[in-house]
Amino acid sequence: MHITANFDAGNIDVINLEDKKDIQLAIRPDFGGEFFQWFNFRLSGQAGEQYILNILNAGEASFPAGWENYQAVASYDRQHWFRLPTSYKDGKLTIVADMECDTIQVAYFAPYSYERHQDLLAAVQTHPLVTLEHLGETFDKRDLTLVKIGDGDVNKRNIWITARQHPGETMAEWLVEGLMDSLLDSDNTTSKLLLDKANFYIVPNMNPDGSVRGHLRTNALGINLNREWLNPSLEKSPEVFHVINKMEETGVDLFYDVHGDEALPFVFLAGSEGTPSYNDRLAGLRDRFSEVLKLASADFQSEIGYGIGAPGEANMTLATHWVAERFDCLANTLEMPFKDNNNVPNSAMGWSPERSVKLGEASLIAMLAVVDTLR
Ligand code: ZN
Repeated sequence: MHITANFDAGNIDVINLEDKKDIQLAIRPDFGGEFFQWFNFRLSGQAGEQYILNILNAGEASFPAGWENYQAVASYDRQHWFRLPTSYKDGKLTIVADMECDTIQVAYFAPYSYERHQDLLAAVQTHPLVTLEHLGETFDKRDLTLVKIGDGDVNKRNIWITARQHPGETMAEWLVEGLMDSLLDSDNTTSKLLLDKANFYIVPNMNPDGSVRGHLRTNALGINLNREWLNPSLEKSPEVFHVINKMEETGVDLFYDVHGDEALPFVFLAGSEGTPSYNDRLAGLRDRFSEVLKLASADFQSEIGYGIGAPGEANMTLATHWVAERFDCLANTLEMPFKDNNNVPNSAMGWSPERSVKLGEASLIAMLAVVDTLR
């Protein structure tokens, strides 16, 4: 028996491997030690045997409520990801693997690898409407890449989409992959109409360093990028610094910041209520966007989500709040579950890359519904 996490986005520390019915593991915290929840490792054992994996420090993770009714994700072929029986008790997460093959990869959610990220960028750039722009470098010297889709006509609206500020929220990049594939599909008339009216600026991965390092929430320096928008710096948060510079150049008429939520088993939006200049126009746009997204995807709902900020009380270091205020535009954080959507549950798969892809496609319909009224 052997366990390794020595690969792209890997994360686990092995404490004790002596007993296959009591394998003792711990999640390695993000740099700086403040956050952890993401795990991703491969177990080599024997087909037909049962292995019981215990993550001993689960109770000290960033979101302990995230373990309640949570089922770990696994794959034999690294393509198809399914759920394993998982329980949480007394601060310990227990995952049971009845092995059908000799090795299994176990993760917090289906990984979206750095290789796949690069494949995505390479694939879309062959489309005539796409240009890639190098926005800058990260601390670990990785590229921060912007995908521009459209002809750049200054009379069109400018739609900005960012994903994976929190690198462990891989469903965000799965969603962006689905959204971009749909947007570039010449048989998709929603996309065709939308591209007649808007230019798209998409950052599929805001945090490549954190992604490769197997972080949950921060960049290479342990900085939570979604608390850096008020005062980004090249030293601490170059990712946000470069994106804001580019936003200032293009302007922003609609902002969609894509995330995953550890605890809530629902898909929901968090808007910019509570920002100093929030107004009826933005509230109307938000309602329209939300209503149409509900029709476009039965996975989306607006009953359950985060509490709405009191007027003027919004935390302006968050991307959605900062962008809404700076550009007086419709801005939303989209949250997908790590667990499942309790309104439309799927016990074998839970929330999945495939459902994230579909939600990306559906998001375009909501964008088309508001594009004429963004200004
Ligand atoms: Zn997030």
